[in-house]
Amino acid sequence: MIRFEHVTKSYADGTVAVDDLSFEVAAGELVTLVGPSGCGKTTTMKMVNRLIEPTSGHIYLDGTDISTIDPVELRRRIGYVIQQVGLFPHKTVLDNTATVPHLLGWPRKKARDRAAELLELVGLDPSQYGDRYPDQLSGGQRQRVGVARALAADPPVLLMDEPFGAVDPVVREHLQTEFLRLQSALHKTVLFVTHDIEEAVRLGDRIAVYGEGRVEQFDTPATVLGAPATPYVAEFVGTDRGLKRLSVTPIERGDLELPPVVHLDDTVGRATARMAADDSPWAVVLDAEDQLHGWVSAATLSGLDRTGTQGTVREHARRMDAWLPLGAPLKQAFSTMLQYDAGWIAVLDGDRFLGVLTPTRLHEALRRSTAADAGRITRAEVELETIRNA
Ligand code: ADP
Ligand code: MG
Repeated sequence: MIRFEHVTKSYADGTVAVDDLSFEVAAGELVTLVGPSGCGKTTTMKMVNRLIEPTSGHIYLDGTDISTIDPVELRRRIGYVIQQVGLFPHKTVLDNTATVPHLLGWPRKKARDRAAELLELVGLDPSQYGDRYPDQLSGGQRQRVGVARALAADPPVLLMDEPFGAVDPVVREHLQTEFLRLQSALHKTVLFVTHDIEEAVRLGDRIAVYGEGRVEQFDTPATVLGAPATPYVAEFVGTDRGLKRLSVTPIERGDLELPPVVHLDDTVGRATARMAADDSPWAVVLDAEDQLHGWVSAATLSGLDRTGTQGTVREHARRMDAWLPLGAPLKQAFSTMLQYDAGWIAVLDGDRFLGVLTPTRLHEALRRSTAADAGRITRAEVELETIRNA
């Protein structure tokens, strides 16, 4: 969708803002450009809508060299959101949002209807906010209007230059969540600039990590965090990259431990035998509908009636209803364990109990996924070296 081919931008004073940049952004993909201030992110963006012309190299949009497209025509196909928002102070929120449709000569009613629809989409009730002026909005609300305005003419491409940089962290997280929801419905091709690695990781399908004017690594968030390509990237993503990686690594089936499963109505004898067969000190307890009930320990049952003629698991089982769906991020698993003060959590596929994640398994999953990304193989193919206590 957007392709950079050996793009360089140098200024008259000799500053090379962007140096021989080549990468491609697929249609519907959200790519974050992340790097410290002055590394060439904004320059990269502005070359896409021809606010800045490259010194050499080519940029293609849908296969067409953009230097052959009239800049005004080009910008109609590209929504642009910047940190300063740039709303017109003397125009209402609705009119601000309808800016591009107005410019395109849409009939007034159609433009206003479209603007109202978009305000709704970004979480601003048009009947409440439509007639306000920008200075009657909070910073977060102004950013929402900025996003709505950029989307008004339904451009296939969005350029977003630190759009959420000026709001406080809580609002910022809200805006990120909303934007992800929006993007999952709209599938725009997005270039999103940020200097915040957390934001880059959270939003990006892929991340371009910028050094000075150059892309040091261009890959998925998980790979950038798990296998930084250069010492520079490693330093930029931070010494807590392992922790950050937890949030971009999903629970997979192969990560799970499979303790024996017993049912509430099983007799004590049957349950004890089941655990003994697996040499397991505990079992997961499901109810008659195979829903998670909790767990029972072998020690609790030992000494009780082993013939199984009296008593069922029901009287001895402990409740534990911490569960997550398959595919949830490992970070959520870890935080659920802490929240429930639990040594394991159940992992379900829809309604179906699949197995459990323990701290040890979680750690293994992280090691496995890191090794898999580094070696470009699947997690199941990774052989972990483990140290076993004698
Ligand atoms: P970022 O957005 O990553 O902070 P920019 O793309 O704005 O970085 O700038 C990249 C580099 O180009 C910086 O060193 C900046 O000072 C320089 N630069 C930007 N605009 C100009 C200009 N008009 N003349 C000279 N240097 C510039
Ligand atoms: Mg910038």
